[in-house]
Amino acid sequence: MATGILYIVATPIGNLNDITLRALEVLRQVAVIAAEDTRHSKKLLDHYGIETPLMSVHDHNEADQVGALQTRLQNGESVALISDAGTPLISDPGFRVVRALQQAEVEVVAVPGPCAAIAALSIAGLPTDRFLFVGFLPTKQQARRSALEALLQERGTLVLYESPKRIKSTLEDVASVLGQQREVAVVKEITKAYETVRRGAALDVLDWLQQDQHHCRGEFVLLVAGAPESLPAIDPAALRALRLAAEYMPLKKACGVVAEITGLPKNALYEAALADNADKA
Ligand code: SAM
Repeated sequence: MATGILYIVATPIGNLNDITLRALEVLRQVAVIAAEDTRHSKKLLDHYGIETPLMSVHDHNEADQVGALQTRLQNGESVALISDAGTPLISDPGFRVVRALQQAEVEVVAVPGPCAAIAALSIAGLPTDRFLFVGFLPTKQQARRSALEALLQERGTLVLYESPKRIKSTLEDVASVLGQQREVAVVKEITKAYETVRRGAALDVLDWLQQDQHHCRGEFVLLVAGAPESLPAIDPAALRALRLAAEYMPLKKACGVVAEITGLPKNALYEAALADNADKA
């Protein structure tokens, strides 16, 4: 008997009409649908009158479910993998399943469709020729700032997912580490009634988030313009402040403090400090 096919099927990210004809056909025809949250996905299937049985495959049981899926596929049954919203594997479970089943010679086929990151890029108004999908940053502030520091020199647009709980603090960290004037775009509630794009300097968008509690509700993609080609010149007063601060704390921290006070990008200060030390050497 021929092996079944594993279909990786994208589902809507808000508007239930955003599903392809092919996705509906596959979801109807497979023997089973592996879903992240079966109760959640049942609503989508009910909406389209799809009666295919569901099984649960999420972050915590993914490795254990590989065996069960492999048996079904090797018995000739085809399987569709979906997540709660959008494209599976994109900040969602499925990577281990895909990799393990490919290693077992199962054919894995994409049924593409919505993805919040790509939809956000298409309406944010930031460069799209080069971008880096970052997904969720760490939830602890120190780890989040370190992760942002590692992205200081990235020239492509950064694409981050964030929860309503942390959107403000993450944007505060973006402003402090990457610069208050760095251009960002908050894209929220894509395909839903209150879809919104707010683009501007990090500090201004932060201000907008703080203006009204409704602005912080919903689902968010945060996009950050890449590092500028040439970092802005640092004026002598800022450099003097930096030298002074660096006498009392590590250089990176000193750059953070001076960035906070002056609004200059932390990376520009860091580069200037390195050049300054090289000049003195
Ligand atoms: N696999 C999904 C995809 O293809 O985009 C992403 C899953 S991830 C667990 C969920 C995150 O995606 C949310 O916290 C939010 O950052 C983003 N997201 C999902 N739907 C969205 C929407 N309608 N508008 C804005 N962001 C959304």
